[in-house]
Amino acid sequence: MLHSLPKEDNYLQKGLRKQLVQVLRDKGIKDERVLGAIEAIPRHFFLDKAFERQAYEDRAFPIAAGQTISQPYTVAYQTQLLDLQKFDKVLEIGTGSAYQAMVLAEMGISLFTIERQKELYDYVGKMVLLKKYPAIKRFYGDGFEGLPSYAPFDKILVTCGAPFIPPKLLAQLKPGGIMVIPVGEDGQQKMLRITKDKEGNIEEEEMGDFRFVPMLQGRNPRP
Ligand code: SAH
Repeated sequence: MLHSLPKEDNYLQKGLRKQLVQVLRDKGIKDERVLGAIEAIPRHFFLDKAFERQAYEDRAFPIAAGQTISQPYTVAYQTQLLDLQKFDKVLEIGTGSAYQAMVLAEMGISLFTIERQKELYDYVGKMVLLKKYPAIKRFYGDGFEGLPSYAPFDKILVTCGAPFIPPKLLAQLKPGGIMVIPVGEDGQQKMLRITKDKEGNIEEEEMGDFRFVPMLQGRNPRP
């Protein structure tokens, strides 16, 4: 579990964040809105104080409940693939630390996000930084089900490795919408960008190899 979270965001962390943005640019991230959001969000608030510096290295990091906060490059790359437009209604599967959720909310969209681990869901509810983003609506539930009562969504982002494309999520994507989802077993996934055209036809593009924690069935109430 996380203890002593840092509260300060001073010139040191802001400087480290600028360097991280430069690293992401060098790795090919071009969407200025994504880079702006990464520059705005104090990622060190998501890690234990002892790891403040590591917060701005381009790597994933362990958080509570055996889960991870995604690598900044992966967050930026997935977000860029979504091609977000202002006022898009977005569904995220796998709230985790809520870092990705805040990057999305910082870009001015309306976000619905689902987490299956009760411990993480409760933990994020206590984060002070979350109050800055009223556009984030959180749900404790199973991402395979999506959120039928709030569907359809302009964009859907899956941040855990899915064994297959969940049919209910595909059904909750608007015509003209985009879903970004890593698909594959054993911590080895292909990033897919799925586009649904106005007639409901599906197009799939492969966008490279990634590693995610697995997308698991059902909710997990255990601490
Ligand atoms: N977006 C997160 C990434 C966290 S890792 C971040 O920025 O920190 C992926 C998360 O997906 C984990 O928290 C895991 O518990 C969650 N997850 C796995 N299967 C899920 C499912 N079926 N429904 C909802 N969340 C799920």
